[in-house]
Amino acid sequence: MRYISTRGQAPALNFEDVLLAGLATDGGLYVPENLPRFTQEEIASWAGLPYHELAFRVMRPFVTGSIPDADFKKILEETYGVFSHNAVAPLRQLNGNEWVLELFHGPTLAFKDFALQLLGRLLDYVLEKRGERVVIVGATSGDTGSAAIEGCKHCENVDIFILHPHNRVSEVQRRQMTTIFGENIHNIAIEGNFDDCQEMVKASFADQSFLKGTRLVAVNSINWARIMAQIVYYFHAALQLGGPARSVSFSVPTGNFGDIFAGYLARNMGLPINQLIVATNRNDILHRFMSGNQYVKETLHATLSPSMDIMVSSNFERLLFDLHGRNGAAIAGLMDSFKQGGGFSVEQERWTEARKLFDSLAVDDAQTCETIAEVYEQTGELLDPHTAIGVKAARECRRSLDIPMVILGTAHPVKFPDAVEKAGVGKALELPVHLADLFKRDERCTVLPNDLKAVQAFVSQHGNRGKPL
Ligand SMILES: *Cc1c(COP(=O)(O)O)cnc(C)c1O
Repeated sequence: MRYISTRGQAPALNFEDVLLAGLATDGGLYVPENLPRFTQEEIASWAGLPYHELAFRVMRPFVTGSIPDADFKKILEETYGVFSHNAVAPLRQLNGNEWVLELFHGPTLAFKDFALQLLGRLLDYVLEKRGERVVIVGATSGDTGSAAIEGCKHCENVDIFILHPHNRVSEVQRRQMTTIFGENIHNIAIEGNFDDCQEMVKASFADQSFLKGTRLVAVNSINWARIMAQIVYYFHAALQLGGPARSVSFSVPTGNFGDIFAGYLARNMGLPINQLIVATNRNDILHRFMSGNQYVKETLHATLSPSMDIMVSSNFERLLFDLHGRNGAAIAGLMDSFKQGGGFSVEQERWTEARKLFDSLAVDDAQTCETIAEVYEQTGELLDPHTAIGVKAARECRRSLDIPMVILGTAHPVKFPDAVEKAGVGKALELPVHLADLFKRDERCTVLPNDLKAVQAFVSQHGNRGKPL
């Protein structure tokens, strides 16, 4: 499989190089040159497979030529073996034909484990084969950081630097990062917001001289391998609910457009999906595009669903590329005008096409709390605030009660006690056994100013197992 850049100027790469690439050299994102397409019979034959075996079948075409089947199978079995629920991604029913796909049974209790547990193992495999070391610099609004650290902490050949916005992640989220020690693990709290952190990561890809020749790898969802891993659970959920004979709808709490883009790909790969609902919080650039053809940057608001507090959705560029007939020059132009003027609209027929593909809703904090309380009352299930946004959007945007509606349950409620408390649900939250002593553990973290040079200097001072590069 070959991968091409959304801006049309960077060289095409194979899977191994795309895994290690992050942003393309032209500033674009990598996408598969041709998407695999499965027949209905083929998909139907996967019913009942264990998660890791389904994962092998769905992802195999993406890694062909880079990872032999036997090795890939072994990696996947290990990856999904660390999840604490036998079903890996169980479905829980909330209402008639309404389901939550629980994606929070991995080590850090959010869906990001699905991709980052795999990414760490893939990096280990590829780097050992090549005899190469790399540096990861990643930005997190809360959940990516811990999932990346958990996924890469055992990697011999990776030094990992995670930037999080100082005092803007929940205490559980922070402690899940800062209590993991290792000479290759570095937590940096930036005196700024998530977009500042993300900008620094992007700038570091654009000019890598501070790394003195060491390769920089991305753990954010600009890394294709993350999107790839997330395609699998759409197939998994649909197969549990009678797919592909029957089509299924999904409501996806989203910020960076990563998780929902994986759903869009699953549909293009042959999975019958009826509705794909983009569910955002008050930071609603995606909803404003879907409902009014305005992709315009606005002020960032801190919400009860911090993992979706972002102004600009990186992966949206991958959708725009398809909407524009895969014309890289057109995307480079759009992204340029976004950078200059902070926004754009697309031509009417392209927007109409987007409207056919997605429904959308923005949900504020008050509605989030109402939904948590309502679902708890109706079912006894406690939702995290991100999942609650997905449920609210599903209930508002749903077109047919006959088609199963699956809401992606992106995090465990214990990660977001503030929202649960505000919702007035009087249920005590308990950390799972493997995190029971989280609040007693020592923390390690460096606070740095919102300054690219300071961050890059820190990385080059510590990028080789804590020693200078
Ligand atoms: C990251 C995250 C999201 C948003 O995912 P995207 O891929 O950015 O759309 C939603 N919910 C939770 C809990 C997250 O950690």
